[in-house]
Amino acid sequence: MATKIQEPISIPMTVSVPYRFAAGSYLTKCLIGLRDHGTLFAVECPKCKRVQLPPRIVCATCHVRNERWVELGLEGTLVAFTIMYLPLTDPTTGKPHNPPFVYGTVRLDGATSVLDHFINVEPDLEKIRVGMRCRMILRPQAERIGDLSDILYFDPIPG
Ligand SMILES: [Zn+2]
Repeated sequence: MATKIQEPISIPMTVSVPYRFAAGSYLTKCLIGLRDHGTLFAVECPKCKRVQLPPRIVCATCHVRNERWVELGLEGTLVAFTIMYLPLTDPTTGKPHNPPFVYGTVRLDGATSVLDHFINVEPDLEKIRVGMRCRMILRPQAERIGDLSDILYFDPIPG
């Protein structure tokens, strides 16, 4: 006699899992530079020459140690964006961002890798475009705590 398989039941729930992770020496150097001086440090791979931010000890492509530090400015170019119509919870603050808003990918000048962050522009396709110049806006220095939440958003640079 065959056993009838019961329909599985799922119970939706939201689980809060606060955690900490060790930033390691490379990301720590980057975050301290951001907190104390408002500067960003990346690393350049000695083999492929990619400038990586956040800095990694080993190039993920070449598997060689990155030892050359590169100081980046706070300006870059928007390479992609989306207008968000759903709320997004900031993973560093736990606070929601109410839609609509613009979230974008910025390549800082001199960097190979990109950063994803909020773009402080009206969510209007007439006012935002790939290729527009942006500037990273940080918390006031006295309020910085040495994590990625010190980066508030990117402002478009007029022109
Ligand atoms: Zn490499």
